[in-house]
Amino acid sequence: MTLFRLIYLSYAAPNLEYPDLLDIMQKSEKNNSASGITGMLCYGDSMFLQILEGDRKLVSQTYDRISKDKRHFDSELIEFTETDNRLFGVWSMHLVQMDTMNAKQKEQARNILMKYSSSNRFALGSMNAKQSLNFMVDMTALYAQANS
Ligand code: FAD
Repeated sequence: MTLFRLIYLSYAAPNLEYPDLLDIMQKSEKNNSASGITGMLCYGDSMFLQILEGDRKLVSQTYDRISKDKRHFDSELIEFTETDNRLFGVWSMHLVQMDTMNAKQKEQARNILMKYSSSNRFALGSMNAKQSLNFMVDMTALYAQANS
């Protein structure tokens, strides 16, 4: 077993609604916990940025399944690399939905994005692999702070 991390970006289907996100999260939690995959999914400005961590073969199979899902399109692989440790080990999948954050959280999230990106919009595609990873780690800290 080799621990790998995969990061990709995709665009939400125009007809995507909240129940779709709920269904995606339910399936993700069920399937990922069964295959030891952990990670985080950010949704904002009609884009998804997701990190998957786990066994190389299982992550690869999961991404293959996800990329065929009609609820998003134009999936771009940002990174698929060996890693020494998990960064999102507590979550089989955690959704950060940026559109529904309150004003203070939105401001904090925007500041995090500004730290790593050239854009001041929720342009998740404007970051390279390292910046995407750092953005997700900082968003995790923001989430933990909001729920402490
Ligand atoms: P089923 O739920 O039985 O689905 C069978 C097929 O139907 C699959 O091809 C599925 O893509 C498709 N499908 C199911 N519901 C819908 C729907 N409402 N609209 C259109 N097509 C549909 N899955 C994971 O396991 N782990 C993840 O981390 C994960 N992340 C995701 C992130 C995004 C942005 C998206 C869009 C999907 C994600 N999914 C994830 C869901 C994944 O694409 C599959 O839908 C799911 O893994 C299939 O679950 P299942 O094997 O129980 O099959």
